[in-house]
Amino acid sequence: MRGDIVISVGHGKNAAGKYDPGAVSRDRKYHEHRIAREIARYAAEYLQCDIINENGNRCLAERIRDVNAGNYGFAAEIHLNAGGGTGTETYYYHGSPTGKRAADEVSKSISGALKIRNRGPKIRLNSAGRDYFGFIRQSKPCAVLIETVFIDCDSDLEKVKTPEGAKACGEALAKGLEKALAENTHYEVTACNIAVRSTADADSPEIRRLAKGENFKVTITAKNGKWGRLPGGGWVNLEKGCRRAKK
Ligand SMILES: [Zn+2]
Repeated sequence: MRGDIVISVGHGKNAAGKYDPGAVSRDRKYHEHRIAREIARYAAEYLQCDIINENGNRCLAERIRDVNAGNYGFAAEIHLNAGGGTGTETYYYHGSPTGKRAADEVSKSISGALKIRNRGPKIRLNSAGRDYFGFIRQSKPCAVLIETVFIDCDSDLEKVKTPEGAKACGEALAKGLEKALAENTHYEVTACNIAVRSTADADSPEIRRLAKGENFKVTITAKNGKWGRLPGGGWVNLEKGCRRAKK
């Protein structure tokens, strides 16, 4: 994939600069923005990618500006649905095969992990025939909008309102993106013993080492393509001691 993934958190601030909770639970205790933020943190942790609007201080136009200012290849914004339904669904840029594949895998993955209904990949157009959601319409990279669960459905909310639930949802979402956007590029170790680390950071704990001559596959990259994730987990600095294997 060209460029990294970026995860954006829906809501938090409206165009007038006031707090925008997004949708709320039936008892009004849970706000869409706050749960979306927790889910987004776990997803970004898994993917080792940037996160936009983590502090709820970016309105939609600013979030889109941030997406377009970065050199990202794919953008996903996290939301919770409302309006009296149940399950997970993901909107994608109409006509984008990549967007559709990502939306499909993400919805499948969340629905499987949380054991909720899979409403599947969707498009939504406005009266002008353009994509309804500004985040999808105006983001330069391919973008999806993930409606993880319905916040106004108590049994859906139950699945994501705890840290464990948000983690399960965030990681499922990340794995769906990883599967859909997988590069599956092969590398070969050219130096002695290169480290596989727990995150895309040279100071993070070392999980294991790869021997010289060993081949490994990268499923997805982060930090401007500098780090690659291995299928079983763990990250390798692709610029140090390895090279792309010739097919
Ligand atoms: Zn929303």
